[in-house]
Amino acid sequence: MHINEERLWNRINELGEIGRSENGGLNRFSFTDEERQAKELIKKYMAEAGLSVREDEIGNVFGKMDGKNPNGKTVLIGSHIDTVLNGGKFDGAVGVLSGIEVLQTLNEKGITTENPLEVVAFTDEEGARFSTGLLGSEAYIGDLTYNDLADNTDNNGISIAEAMINQGYDPTNLASVKADANSIKCYLEVHIEQGKVLESKNVPVGLVTGIAGLRWLKIKINGEAGHAGTTPMALRKDPLAAAVEIIHRVEQLAKEQEQTVMTVGQFIVNPGGINVIPSNVEFTIDIRDLSEALLDQLVTQINNMTHNICAKREVTLEVENLHSVSGVDCSAEVYQSIQTTIEDKGIEVVKLPSGAIHDAMVIGKITDIGMIFLRTKDGISHTSEEWCEKEDVSMGAQVLLGSVIKLAANSFVQHG
Ligand SMILES: [Zn+2]
Repeated sequence: MHINEERLWNRINELGEIGRSENGGLNRFSFTDEERQAKELIKKYMAEAGLSVREDEIGNVFGKMDGKNPNGKTVLIGSHIDTVLNGGKFDGAVGVLSGIEVLQTLNEKGITTENPLEVVAFTDEEGARFSTGLLGSEAYIGDLTYNDLADNTDNNGISIAEAMINQGYDPTNLASVKADANSIKCYLEVHIEQGKVLESKNVPVGLVTGIAGLRWLKIKINGEAGHAGTTPMALRKDPLAAAVEIIHRVEQLAKEQEQTVMTVGQFIVNPGGINVIPSNVEFTIDIRDLSEALLDQLVTQINNMTHNICAKREVTLEVENLHSVSGVDCSAEVYQSIQTTIEDKGIEVVKLPSGAIHDAMVIGKITDIGMIFLRTKDGISHTSEEWCEKEDVSMGAQVLLGSVIKLAANSFVQHG
């Protein structure tokens, strides 16, 4: 059974015109007219696919196909259709449109699965407007409060709640958005890899092992400012020299692990004069891995290592834990169904973790999840340059179709 490659590709391109900016990229921020237009187009596609369409009070759009078994748990497929500033047309959109394509294909072939199937486009995954993200999926699992909507504002001081009211939603009615976890069998998401692993392995699709958790640290080192010409090397307390040593160790520490990635993405030097030994420096470390235990262990190691280096150099140190997110493993049954489908197509199974956060991570708190990654040209995303080949998009949907058929063949809601 084959999905309709042309239809899927045409929809990616049609949706990929909504919110196009002068820079060539897409601006589809949450609760804007561009996002509304995109949602209406998604609803039209869902209707064409023969699905029953609904939108909830946070703006998640659903298209459902009944199963043979009225008590069957739903196999949910989704992603998002909002974008970052000047974003690409594949990130998120490809997951939603692949889901619709799979259900439309089944409908056209006259196939009704045992379990119900549902596609969802979650609201505000990227968080580009309100610096939040994952709003739709968090509301769906009941993890979002009215205060979250009232407290976060965009650059114009408009809160999420106000923006919602302006678009006709009721921000006080989050209770109606929360899903009955017991009615969902699993959640599948097709997404662009946003990295170079699949490209380097020369495969169109990849099997995601899990979504990495993260730790963000902020490190501040205080030394002693001084004249660059008159302070002998032996008498210096240079915080930048200490930081460089630490950052070098951070890189080594990451490389010693199997899959851990660590990044220093922000760095401030004060006062920042060409002829002044710095008085203090501040930098961040982003640490990601699938294993929570390893993440905690690495944070402890970094703490010890930075303390030792700073003590040796007679500079003082402050370490702040900025942010912590738990990772989620993909579930065995979903994982297996994707793996078998990829193998059946004669494609080498490349297993990789997701270093980026996705709606699947949130949904993973209430049900089994699985993800299929698509080869991404040069690993580039979040720009207008973002690109997936048509055949790869098609293969992703084809693997999704095979996985969904396997997963939707059984399982019942437990009553009483
Ligand atoms: Zn995305």
